[in-house]
Amino acid sequence: MRHIAVIGSGPAGYYTAEAAQKQFGDDVRVDIIDRLPVPFGLIRSGVAPDHQSIKHVSRRYEATALTENVRFVGNIAIGEAVSVPELLDLYDAVVLATGAPRDQPLDIPGADLPGVTGSAAFVGWYNGHPDHADLDPPLDGPGAVVIGNGNVALDVARVLSKTPAEFAGSDIVGHALDSLDHAAIRTITLLGRRGPHQIHMTPKELGELGDLQRAVAAVDIADFPPAGEDAALETGLRKSVAHLRNYAARAGELDAADKPIRIVFDFFAMPVRIEGDGKVERVVVERTKLDAQGAAIGTGETYAIPASLVVSCIGYRTPPIAGVPYDEMLGRFANVEGRVLPGLYAVGWARRGPTGTIGTNRPDGFAIVEKIAADTRGGSGKAGRAGLDALLAARGADPVTFRDWQKIEAAEVAAARDGSPREKFTQVGDMLDARTS
Ligand code: NAP
Repeated sequence: MRHIAVIGSGPAGYYTAEAAQKQFGDDVRVDIIDRLPVPFGLIRSGVAPDHQSIKHVSRRYEATALTENVRFVGNIAIGEAVSVPELLDLYDAVVLATGAPRDQPLDIPGADLPGVTGSAAFVGWYNGHPDHADLDPPLDGPGAVVIGNGNVALDVARVLSKTPAEFAGSDIVGHALDSLDHAAIRTITLLGRRGPHQIHMTPKELGELGDLQRAVAAVDIADFPPAGEDAALETGLRKSVAHLRNYAARAGELDAADKPIRIVFDFFAMPVRIEGDGKVERVVVERTKLDAQGAAIGTGETYAIPASLVVSCIGYRTPPIAGVPYDEMLGRFANVEGRVLPGLYAVGWARRGPTGTIGTNRPDGFAIVEKIAADTRGGSGKAGRAGLDALLAARGADPVTFRDWQKIEAAEVAAARDGSPREKFTQVGDMLDARTS
């Protein structure tokens, strides 16, 4: 028997468990440990609430979770209830699947002003993550600036611009829906420090901006290289650029569409400081151009964009864990193809950084299990889950099982607003109470 502990119950964690089942059959026990009482990590609190089709992948994880040899152990914080060295004593392999839930810091003056927030907090707020549910972002001004040209920036701009009716069928939390309903935002400026050919936005997500009820995408054709140069782009990027060109071509038509919100793509625009008297009032931006390597360099020309909300969507970092080798520059655990230390592995964003789609984590999970198979033998005599249970009991910890989660979920579904699949609990205490309701 092999005993595996996976830290983190997001996509990378569950794909690792699924791969372990396939590799070892009944000869493995996997414990998926999470600091929250609810599973699925990024699926629950990162994927946009209006992208329910992506969130449905959690049903696949549920099938894995409900098998005998995989167990969810929620409400257990590593470094508090149990440490990584203790897990290494108890299990043949410990897999870090903790994702990258911290924002890449926005390192410019004024980034600490009230009204400036990272996407981890903003996305966590509208998804009801207990760490961020109290964010209360200022939506009362006419201008918002979203920094970054990736899919997260697109998610944030789209969520800021949607009507309550457009959230029908989503699982956006009630507090965010109410705030967005009363928002005064009229201009959402997406700042890209490089150009249309350097975006990280995927075609499906970019295309959604063309169908919004009360918002239009404003794109300036002057920012584009000659159309013939699109042919050299990779297929997905070429499709995304085609959407942008289409928005630029439809400028007059869209102006006449009488939609009150504009999502302005401001390319070659690098934020250099954020200003305001006690709170954000404007973002000062420097016009850029590309150098020979394709990097953005400032031209010295600056201008200011009025804003009462700034959301920085410039990537994420994995929080370090004491005693685990960490790569400061890359913001993730130091590893060689997923191997961190003997018996200790990293997978998903904690291994490779915040790139790729949810599905990218599946081959990642399978690859790490192959390494575990090569490195470990069954019958090591480690205590596994019985040892963890004894340790947690001795420490008075209160682990949450997958069956408990199903009760929490049933309570969330019962509390759903009209047209919503669920109302999420945003406080850990409410989640724990729901186990007994
Ligand atoms: P991302 O794709 O890496 O994009 C980050 C953006 O921030 C880039 O445009 C980057 O510009 C810019 N940036 C970085 N540092 C900056 C700075 N100091 N100042 C100004 N701009 C800066 O990251 P993400 O949007 O956070 O997405 C993370 C991953 O999740 C991606 O793989 C993404 O596709 C995925 N995701 C997928 C979906 C979906 O499929 N629906 C939704 C959300 C997220 P440069 O290019 O110049 O560095």
